[in-house]
Amino acid sequence: MITIIGAGPAGSYLAYLLGKNGREVALIEEHDRIGSPVQCTGIVTSSIEKFVKLPNKVIANKCNKVIVISKNNRAEANVDEIVMWRNRFDEFMAERAENEGVKIFTNHQFLGFINKNTIKIKDKKNNKIKEIEAEAIVGADGPSSSVAKAAGIKQIFNYYIGMQAKVKLKTDINAFETYFSNTDFPEFFGWAVPESEDTVRLGLGAKKNAKELFYKFLEKRTGKKDILCWESGIFPIYSQKQAIQKGNIYLIGDAACQVKATTGGGIIPSLKAAHTLCDCILSKKDYGKEFKKQSGMELLLHLRIRNALNKFSDKDYGYLLSLMNQEKVKKILKKYDRDTPMPLVLNLLLREPRFLSFAKYIF
Ligand SMILES: Cc1cc2nc3c(=O)[nH]c(=O)nc-3n(C[C@H](O)[C@H](O)[C@H](O)COP(=O)(O)OP(=O)(O)OC[C@H]3O[C@@H](n4cnc5c(N)ncnc54)[C@H](O)[C@@H]3O)c2cc1C
Repeated sequence: MITIIGAGPAGSYLAYLLGKNGREVALIEEHDRIGSPVQCTGIVTSSIEKFVKLPNKVIANKCNKVIVISKNNRAEANVDEIVMWRNRFDEFMAERAENEGVKIFTNHQFLGFINKNTIKIKDKKNNKIKEIEAEAIVGADGPSSSVAKAAGIKQIFNYYIGMQAKVKLKTDINAFETYFSNTDFPEFFGWAVPESEDTVRLGLGAKKNAKELFYKFLEKRTGKKDILCWESGIFPIYSQKQAIQKGNIYLIGDAACQVKATTGGGIIPSLKAAHTLCDCILSKKDYGKEFKKQSGMELLLHLRIRNALNKFSDKDYGYLLSLMNQEKVKKILKKYDRDTPMPLVLNLLLREPRFLSFAKYIF
């Protein structure tokens, strides 16, 4: 049997793939309800449909426009993005796994290893400790992975705090906004993503002072201080140095820092990683090597872009947006999304060589 800890997108999708391939799988989730609490904006590019066809019940909204705002400029581009109800998405992914024969144990918490093939879990409802034997154990248990800690796999913790809340605000439901400024959103960015006519998921990422920066943004953008609910969490940023396997113990998703450093988005990278890990478990391949082959370059490119953006002045952002405002650039932004970063960057450089002026921040 293969035991997966954590029924987020990474764990449930891997469980589904392994179940589909005839493997016996147990999926362990510490919460009573899969998908709760929500700590996510739930926006993904339509590239998600390469992995899973989303039913309507999972989709809150679709945006065909992104508005990019800097201190002194503004750009718009046509995009194809889906805003999900993240709790329903997680539930849907777990249901799909269950339909492939995966046994799901909610209210069960991973506590540690007895030996490399036996784990200790707590049945929280009945307050009982159980032991489960497994040929492989997967930590899909999020950014502060207990599996990584118990296995002695050091997590390279380069992270941002994602401060997000739902707020009442009437905006164009077809457009989401992103905000860039090295004073108001230092080293990351802010966003306003409409989930309905009058409710927006407003947030930002920051290394420090996240709450303070968030309240400033909230007041500036909405003129109010009211919050419907918080949905904050942590973005563990990709690192090439992160170990993701130790013998029969594997890490995936946020637990393995498989997150795009440009945006903090981890849903699509974790679904892609699930295919890699499923294949590695079935064919006994080296997961670390295969993951680097299949996703390493893309995530590294995101990291390089993030590191470059972190050096931008407000003037640089203004110039970047004026380049983005050209029709030829908009066409490329519509054709390639951030989940296909290689062709996106290559085409941008080919069609608008002035983007190269930012190379000084990369090298
Ligand atoms: C504010 C914010 C906004 C975000 N917005 C986006 C976005 O718009 N688009 C996007 O693509 N990504 C976004 N992300 C990132 C995205 O949420 C994560 O990358 C994604 O959830 C990773 O999935 P996962 O399955 O690896 O981990 P998780 O979704 O964190 O799932 C881990 C699961 O493991 C369970 N677990 C943990 N410990 C144990 C234990 N000991 N025993 C049993 N179960 C355990 C948890 O309860 C949880 O269900 C955002 C993140 C934040 C913080």
